[in-house]
Amino acid sequence: MPMVGPETADQARLLRLLRDDGPRSRVELADLLGLPRARFAAEVDRLTTLGLVESAGPAASRGGRRSSLLRVGAQVRFGAVLVGDGLLRVALTDGELNPLARHDEPVDVRLGPDMVVGRIVELLGKLRGEAGLSSLTGVGVALPAPVEVRDGSPVSAPALPGWHRFPVRDTLAAELGCPVQVDNDANAMALGERHAGTGRPFDDFLYVKLGEAIGCGLVLAGSLYRGAASGAGDIGHFQLTEDGPLCGCGNNGCVEAYCGDVALVREAVTAARAGRSTALADRLAAAGTLSVADVAAAATEGDAAAQTLVRDAARRLGRVLVGLVSFVNPAIVIIGGAPAGIGPVLLAEIRGVVYRRSTPLATGSMPIVLSDLGDTAGLIGAAHLVSTQSYAAR
Ligand SMILES: [Zn+2]
Repeated sequence: MPMVGPETADQARLLRLLRDDGPRSRVELADLLGLPRARFAAEVDRLTTLGLVESAGPAASRGGRRSSLLRVGAQVRFGAVLVGDGLLRVALTDGELNPLARHDEPVDVRLGPDMVVGRIVELLGKLRGEAGLSSLTGVGVALPAPVEVRDGSPVSAPALPGWHRFPVRDTLAAELGCPVQVDNDANAMALGERHAGTGRPFDDFLYVKLGEAIGCGLVLAGSLYRGAASGAGDIGHFQLTEDGPLCGCGNNGCVEAYCGDVALVREAVTAARAGRSTALADRLAAAGTLSVADVAAAATEGDAAAQTLVRDAARRLGRVLVGLVSFVNPAIVIIGGAPAGIGPVLLAEIRGVVYRRSTPLATGSMPIVLSDLGDTAGLIGAAHLVSTQSYAAR
């Protein structure tokens, strides 16, 4: 199936401008691209014929000639997938990456990639059908794992047992008949924040993703930084102590083994059994198990043991951030993936450590904030990944 896409570098730039800033007038776009009128009109005509661009009505008059607005065509639709923390989230976005429809369901990633990837195909097919589309322009996938972006497969991911080197990108592309891009979830979330969230005004920021897998997306000089083998930002396995709790990666004392959801639940069960928390013990007795949502609920209700667990984890994360912040000197740190309710406690503790311990040059005016996009950041970012490929000249 031949993919429709921009044919020249100017067409590609025009599409990326429309994706990033929304509808704009022809006059403005011609100026931004630095193209003579006739040439600009020819590029727009071609994009219109391809269905990639359409008119969005008259632009507000700027005193001179009236201009019309252009936007990305209505047949450009991206699929976005975010896997992790027990959920499979699938969305459909328009060409500006605004989510149009979304479906979340529980998933057990231990069932293996064949099963989960098969379900992703089904759900994307369902969303596509409901939207009356015959095909998708492209699909982006965010996984809680280091991803070899070159071959679109996860590598040695404790949070995705049995997925090592599974060809997620190629399997999905063959099933769906459209381009697919796969990346790490923290990277996708950083892209989502940069496109539509708190990160939008900032060229240099860190996005720290909490949850079962902990990672960090780095936006440097306006672009996502992946490193030499797309492994940058894998902070979950920084070793904090040599004799700490066993981590899913096989080492001891990793950030994830102290601060990940599994660690919080493990400590909560210990506290409940040791009689240190009636709130946690009651929940454990009622359900036979605890989840990170129980820890969050108990902490929010004022349970001292649950609050201590959250603060301890936050303090450790804070110490990691001290190093990252002085190394990278970001304009802002955005934290996402904290269970509902404990964000403020977590944030206060992290801020305390970072502001006390970092150099004034690195943190003088650097805010540390919670993401307000939540997991939507990961879906927008997943769509962003593939849109960059779709909006590049063939
Ligand atoms: Zn580890």
